[in-house]
Amino acid sequence: MQPKKKNILIVDDSELNRLLLSDILFEDYNIIEAENGMQAMAILHEHGVDISMMLLDIVMPEMDGFEVLAAMNKNGWIETIPVIMISAESGGAIIDHAYDLGAIDYINRPFDERTVKHRVASNLMMSLKQKEMQELLSDQIYQKEKDNNLMIEILSHIVEFRNGESGLHVLHVRTITEKLLKELAKRTDKYPLTPARIKLIATASALHDIGKISVPSEILNKPGRFTPEEFEIMKRHTVEGGDMLKTIPLEGENDLIQVSYAICRWHHERYDGRGYPDKLVGDEIPIEAQVVSVADVYDALTSKRCYKDSLAPQKALQMIVNGECGAFNPELLDCLLSIGNEIEDALKVASYGETTQAEINDTIQQLFSNSEGSDVTRRMVKQLETERLKFKHLADMSHEIMFECVFSPEMVKLSDWSAESLDLPSTIVNPRENNAWCAVFPKKYFEDFVEALKNTNPTHDIVTRQMELDTGTGKKWYKVIGKALWIGEENPELDGAICKIIDVDEETTTMKKLERRAERDPMTGLYNKAAARKHITKFLTSETKTKYALMFVDIDDFKHVNDNFGHAFGDKVIQEVAYRILNNIRSSDIAARMGGDEFLIFLEFTDEYADEIEALTERIYHGVSGPVDSCNVSVSMGVACIDGTPFDYDLLLSMADVAMYSVKKSSKQSYGFYDDSMKGLLKSATSKDKGDKK
Ligand code: GH3
Ligand code: MG
Repeated sequence: MQPKKKNILIVDDSELNRLLLSDILFEDYNIIEAENGMQAMAILHEHGVDISMMLLDIVMPEMDGFEVLAAMNKNGWIETIPVIMISAESGGAIIDHAYDLGAIDYINRPFDERTVKHRVASNLMMSLKQKEMQELLSDQIYQKEKDNNLMIEILSHIVEFRNGESGLHVLHVRTITEKLLKELAKRTDKYPLTPARIKLIATASALHDIGKISVPSEILNKPGRFTPEEFEIMKRHTVEGGDMLKTIPLEGENDLIQVSYAICRWHHERYDGRGYPDKLVGDEIPIEAQVVSVADVYDALTSKRCYKDSLAPQKALQMIVNGECGAFNPELLDCLLSIGNEIEDALKVASYGETTQAEINDTIQQLFSNSEGSDVTRRMVKQLETERLKFKHLADMSHEIMFECVFSPEMVKLSDWSAESLDLPSTIVNPRENNAWCAVFPKKYFEDFVEALKNTNPTHDIVTRQMELDTGTGKKWYKVIGKALWIGEENPELDGAICKIIDVDEETTTMKKLERRAERDPMTGLYNKAAARKHITKFLTSETKTKYALMFVDIDDFKHVNDNFGHAFGDKVIQEVAYRILNNIRSSDIAARMGGDEFLIFLEFTDEYADEIEALTERIYHGVSGPVDSCNVSVSMGVACIDGTPFDYDLLLSMADVAMYSVKKSSKQSYGFYDDSMKGLLKSATSKDKGDKK
């Protein structure tokens, strides 16, 4: 079988040119033609992977060759489909520009058959070889790059977590760094900026603030200005960061370490020698650190922080160029100015890529399992991160308002869900003076609550307060619970508190639901035995002249029902009887299942006419008895009536029980009333009498 011919796409508005080229190539290749750029794009969209090469004219209507190349760059096709330009000229700006955009060769008009064949064949062969090589390498590179990126994301996550930053700063600095470097590389070859080096620097930029892990958190999170001493400590993060990197044992990653080192140590140096820590001047500062310092300043100015609002990108550019944030390399400032808009757009879409939290956790696990016991701080950081994640997930899953109180400097850190539902930032520095927070949690209440938390001790560490707060639906009563975190065994120290705002109404509803559930018999929904006692006793305790009847209902020969029709059908009968009972009493009456096939009905009656209770009993009796499917169901009912209260529940129950028992003994399928002749049969009355005698 002949090998399948490779597809070559010829894009030219001149029919003659297309004809000439396909005449030369059709024997060896399968030719696809497009009259203009738009058609070419449509073909690429449909058959992109099957096109082995493109011959592209530059001057065309609708969409010219440059636009096609630009679109191919954007879609990534330029990396897989080699493009040969078709041109009438052999030099000049047009050809240069096409090369810049990724074209690999050009063919001059008029076409020479041999040259066309040779150029197409050799370029195809090169591109195939390259593809094979790439495929071979890409698996390894991909894995390595993924590992690097992961590790860097983890480290920067940890640092940002501690710095109280949003998580985007690192990503932004990386994006700006990469864009600035690409622009710089276009303008000058003074610095060795290959694409690989640019990628490396961008990756390493994520670590620029890693030294901040050694700055005490009171200074790091201080909302106001630093004292000179504090500033000195803060400045140390450059040196500390560099030192930390030097000691990381990452074999074979020397480039990454070196670049990261330079960035950490020197990203606060300034071009005029007035930065820190080493007061380097001009290009004594490695270019990677220079670029990151510009990126860092730009993102700090344009981002919102707890102590300041964000500046408009144009304003930030102006301040940087005017030297208000220190002196920078003028060439870099030119780059920043010329790609300002591009950066602005890129930052809008920059978000953490495909790395999932699970992947991060996995890698943390791997990283730290290798160094077990060798590095205490690493393990602590890991523990911290795990705890933070646990808290975060629990808090978010609960859909309750939860926050962490930090005491020094005073801060409120809301769970993500809480921040979103209250429409507040997740970190609130100086909450007592924050209007948005005080609108939720009035200052007076907050101060009282914090004071109470600070006055706890390790054995009594819970504070509960009822307060009128506004969580967005107007003022309402809430219960606020805080647990003070006392850390350390020997000399416990107070390390903030975790707090929860509970809607009292909702809590009451939930409690009531639970209580209700606890009182009900699950099969029938009637009150259970304990609830029957509780609710009936309520009526029996006070002194009244009210008449009550208690009816004891027991299904006749229920064992036979189970035996003959099965247990499931037995259940159905129990449910049906319960349903019938409910249907034949008033809502103010009480119905309960005492267990098995026994039920109670408690009701009030008036005796307005002579036999009211008999008529009532008769009606209920007939309402409850009757066939269920093909099974005849009857009950026996014993009724005990009283003329007034107080009356003992157990005694009344026993009276109804013996009345029922006497029906069972005589005929079943009937009802009967308790009368004094049955007194001797009373269980509780007997024991009560005995008790009285003692
Ligand atoms: P009597 O006419 O004398 O009341 O005879 P009986 O067969 O109804 O006897 P008794 O009331 O003592 O029997 C109750 C039976 O109910 C015993 C037990 O096996 C059955 N039982 C108890 N609870 C359940 C239940 O939840 N589902 C079903 N299907 N049967 C139950
Ligand atoms: Mg029975």
